[in-house]
Amino acid sequence: MHILSKSTYIKGLQCEKALYMTKKHPYLRDKLSIEQRARFQRGTDVGILAQQCFPGGVNMTPNAPSQFPKKVQETMANLADPAVNVMYEAVFQYNDTLIMVDLLVRDGDRWKAVEVKSSLRLSPTYYNDAALQYYVLHGCGVPLSDFQLMHLNGDYVKNGDIDVQELFVMVSVLEYAQEKEAWVAANVERLKKVVALPHAPLCRIGTQCHEPYTCDFLGHCWKQVPRNSFLYSTALPDEELFRLYFGGYGTNALMLKQMGSESEEAHQIEALESGSYYIDYKTLFALAPDPKPRSIAYLNLLLDRPAVPELDGTRPYQEMILAFALSGDQEPNGHTLWDCFEDHAQWRESIALLTERLSRYDLIVCFTPLDLASTLMRHEITQNQTFGYKVFNLYEVLNHARMFHPLMKYDFSLQHVAQAMFHEVKLFEHSRIVVEAHGTDLTSYQQAKEDLIAENEVVKSIYQHFFKKMPVDN
Ligand code: SF4
Repeated sequence: MHILSKSTYIKGLQCEKALYMTKKHPYLRDKLSIEQRARFQRGTDVGILAQQCFPGGVNMTPNAPSQFPKKVQETMANLADPAVNVMYEAVFQYNDTLIMVDLLVRDGDRWKAVEVKSSLRLSPTYYNDAALQYYVLHGCGVPLSDFQLMHLNGDYVKNGDIDVQELFVMVSVLEYAQEKEAWVAANVERLKKVVALPHAPLCRIGTQCHEPYTCDFLGHCWKQVPRNSFLYSTALPDEELFRLYFGGYGTNALMLKQMGSESEEAHQIEALESGSYYIDYKTLFALAPDPKPRSIAYLNLLLDRPAVPELDGTRPYQEMILAFALSGDQEPNGHTLWDCFEDHAQWRESIALLTERLSRYDLIVCFTPLDLASTLMRHEITQNQTFGYKVFNLYEVLNHARMFHPLMKYDFSLQHVAQAMFHEVKLFEHSRIVVEAHGTDLTSYQQAKEDLIAENEVVKSIYQHFFKKMPVDN
């Protein structure tokens, strides 16, 4: 059996302990978030679509890990079979390292290897991934004409059936992979030794726990760190926090002695100690809507960016409005809820409706990491309005006012702001609504609508909590 795979090798480059734990104690992994699961599914769907660029291939995907040795033999046999010109998920093993190549295409008397990515751009991790695959293929003696990364083409516009030849862009990384071969070989030897250790390597927690990916073992490795430790603060860069933590200032009390009492770090540590949140009220109130609005609407847009365009005239990852919840005193029964869950082709109807509804208000309050004003402008909602309103994005405002709570350190989400402020409120991950909206039954759509309204109610509570009784007269 193999010791390393593509995913465990990449994990080992990030942290040797993460590799060891994945191999020896996988049951200690954290649960996957809804967003992570959706990302994996997207990768699989795009990979299957990419196969259409090279039709008629032999699918080598094993049904279970126990089939890997058999599939390795079959792959090698297919290389020598002139009737086989394309293989999907061909399985190779070299030096205890197993890989599955997304696409392997006969190219004269050699082969072209292709790794498919569901993104618009290539990251350094994709290059490392390709370099490992090249190392294994070269080690197995596969004569390669090229090694390419294939990713989605941001300029492709759907017109009728998906044109797979136009949907993807190919980038050769052969030269890069060849240059990196010795480096990969050294990493493989190092990581094999890590897996053979009798116990987990001594790796301190550090910046690698979140870079380039959030590690699956945070729950295990960070359990010794008190939940109110200054390591969860954000006023200093993480490198600095870890340097202090392991450099003799391991407790909040020791850290506070180093900080001025009015420093940002000191305020954050006080919030950690009291189990509350910190916000700079002076900045917050300076950002308050001025003049005081006479009419306020709370808007929660559900946007979707399908990797593969669904509708004619759209590109990969092009944004569309799947639903919105709008609360305000101008709405019948206090709110308007619109969606196109059952027919995404209707999404542009939202633009006319939003244009008309929003124009009745002075202030539109929302919470989104997106620039909502630009989003409305992009969809020509702002241009068509009959009179002006302001967008008041609590996400931006609270960030400017340096709101802090340990939950927000790596994820400044509505869910976490709500938990910090109103302890009893439990919202779901926002991405859950996107998943529900892509469901296939009315129950799922109904749940999405309820979640959308619940989020909007929280946005309203946050706004009212901070701005209803502003200590300034607007
Ligand atoms: S949580 Fe950090 S230290 Fe622990 S395995 Fe993951 S990256 Fe390594």
